[in-house]
Amino acid sequence: MKAIVVPAPKQNYSLQEVKDPKPNSDEVVIRVVRAGLCYRDLLQLQGYYPRMKYPVVLGHEVVGEIEEVGDNVSGFKIGDRVISLLYAPDGSCEYCKVGEEAYCKRRLGYSEELDGFFAERAKVKVTSIVKVPQSVSDDAAVIVPCVTGMIYRGIRRAGGINKNEYALVTGASGGVGIHAIQVAKALGARTIGVTTSEDKAKVIRKYADHVIVGSKFSDEARKIGDISLVIDTVGTPTIEESLRSLRMGGKLVQIGNVDPSQIYSLRLGYLILKDILLVGHASATKYDAEQTLKLTEGGNISAVVAGHVNLDNIDEGYRMIKDRNKIGKVLLKP
Ligand SMILES: [Zn+2]
Ligand SMILES: [Zn+2]
Repeated sequence: MKAIVVPAPKQNYSLQEVKDPKPNSDEVVIRVVRAGLCYRDLLQLQGYYPRMKYPVVLGHEVVGEIEEVGDNVSGFKIGDRVISLLYAPDGSCEYCKVGEEAYCKRRLGYSEELDGFFAERAKVKVTSIVKVPQSVSDDAAVIVPCVTGMIYRGIRRAGGINKNEYALVTGASGGVGIHAIQVAKALGARTIGVTTSEDKAKVIRKYADHVIVGSKFSDEARKIGDISLVIDTVGTPTIEESLRSLRMGGKLVQIGNVDPSQIYSLRLGYLILKDILLVGHASATKYDAEQTLKLTEGGNISAVVAGHVNLDNIDEGYRMIKDRNKIGKVLLKP
């Protein structure tokens, strides 16, 4: 089969012919229906993920149809449509047992220790897969583990959001931001999207109740209302204004990860005197994926797709990701 393979650290990927995957007893093989391109891929190519084995198949976001089932797999059958978490937990440790498998110490990452999903087929551990309800589209399903479900869990870890409270999202036109607005709204929040581009504001207005254009957004945000939650998808350029936007007792979910080497000097006074809860956040669990699929099923969350590519023109996909004029996720149909 065809797959996008990274041969060694800090080397670029290439399209290669590789062996078809065969499932171990605790695995299924899926036909990849959609995979998601992500900023994380670019960080992986730059060598920021030390646990990667080489050669490795790139890609950590997937929805697929089960084609083959390992001997010890129960609860899944050929033909089931499933998504996979970004990692495979062992399913047996103290964290896995209480549904906190994101903290599993023996977890293995797809596109890290395990091959990823930019391929025609993929091997997936049964501990990492979740069935997709029929009414959820392939595009909306593939974004659950790394985007909508990840956001859902971030909001949950921050103690949730009450109906009609204000949630502000930075980087609102990005692949994460445009969906973060929808998740917050589906949970009952009033939403404010922040962007630096007037053109993108037009699109964001379709999803958010309010849009602020500009990098200094906190004054305008506070005029709109008491901001209970900020989902910061940008990082160091926006965290100061995100903190300033929050009401007393507000919560900041920080998921921006543009450049892992960037440092921010945090004035602790902001956190302490404003009673702010700061949540650093990265991934979803099966529970979050299931809950998010239910929210998606209700029609409250739709996938905003910048474009589809295939295995032969994945370069074009990464150009779209870097193109600041594109809105939404770039998806791969092998
Ligand atoms: Zn991702
Ligand atoms: Zn575990």
